[in-house]
Amino acid sequence: MIRLLLLAPPGGGKGTQGRVLAEEHGVPHISTGELLRDHVTRSTPLGRRVRPYLERGDLIPDHLVLRLVQERLGTPGVLEGFVLDGFPRTLDQALAAYAWATEHNLTFSAVVHLTVPEAELVRRLLDRGRATGRSDDTADTIRHRLAQYRASTDPLLDFYRERQILVDVDGDGPIPEVAARIRTALEARGLAPANKRAGPG
Ligand code: ADP
Repeated sequence: MIRLLLLAPPGGGKGTQGRVLAEEHGVPHISTGELLRDHVTRSTPLGRRVRPYLERGDLIPDHLVLRLVQERLGTPGVLEGFVLDGFPRTLDQALAAYAWATEHNLTFSAVVHLTVPEAELVRRLLDRGRATGRSDDTADTIRHRLAQYRASTDPLLDFYRERQILVDVDGDGPIPEVAARIRTALEARGLAPANKRAGPG
């Protein structure tokens, strides 16, 4: 089964395409942002701790995210296959993910990297903020999240490029078109959904 990581700037479409991919491949979609927002909504101890970070648009500390992700990946069946959206986001998280994968004797199938021009990202996030009231989709926080993405997440691209699992995909365009581009890019690497593969396996 497929084990995918999704890397994209805020507004890049990780959540949307993550859901599509998870559905196509029949694996769970795990979004760290959603998990965190859920903790905030339920006002759990973790939720109370991370809320100020989320509202400022800051990354939450690595050890908290790691605990959250490991908990989720540790639930039965999930290790087999998943689409992980929003993790890793820093080089330290990537190193931890790598150590964790090695420990469990598994590898990541690919890292899908969606690229979208900055003006389009800002437009999408402002739209989403207006539509959903998501508290980190305001002009100042958006600018901060984008700057942070460049600083923290860009170094990951080289890390995965060196490991030859980075798949760059143009994320600008209608949702089905971007989904089709991702599908084509993954198929080119032998990563078609199981029911579409020729022959067994
Ligand atoms: P976006 O990519 O649009 O910012 P997400 O839903 O992926 O949206 O993440 C929302 C927020 O959750 C981030 O701004 C950050 O505060 C926090 N977050 C999510 N994933 C991580 C992570 N891996 N490490 C640190 N913080 C994270």
